[in-house]
Amino acid sequence: MESKIKFDLITPISYPGEGSAGATGSWRVFKPIIDREKCRKCLLCWLYCPEAAIRVSEENYPEIIYEYCKGCGICANECPVKAISMVEE
Ligand code: SF4
Ligand code: SF4
Repeated sequence: MESKIKFDLITPISYPGEGSAGATGSWRVFKPIIDREKCRKCLLCWLYCPEAAIRVSEENYPEIIYEYCKGCGICANECPVKAISMVEE
């Protein structure tokens, strides 16, 4: 029997913003750099970023919003193909 229940896809999206100490990118020590040659567009980095400082480009590549990236390195740690390097500012 065919189900009559319809499920809508609900996707929560958050955006970075300034906290009481200003934009988190202002005190970053290490900066993530994405190598698009290695990137597989899995977007795990986007999913794991605690600051929502990664957005998705029109070509589905992740892009770092450096104003809000605090340089924690979680994205680099989670990337399955090691396409993100942390470099000193
Ligand atoms: S986790 Fe790595 S491979 Fe996946 S989208 Fe991010 S940079 Fe690309
Ligand atoms: S270093 Fe941390 S804050 Fe910056 S993009 Fe990666 S996960 Fe987000």
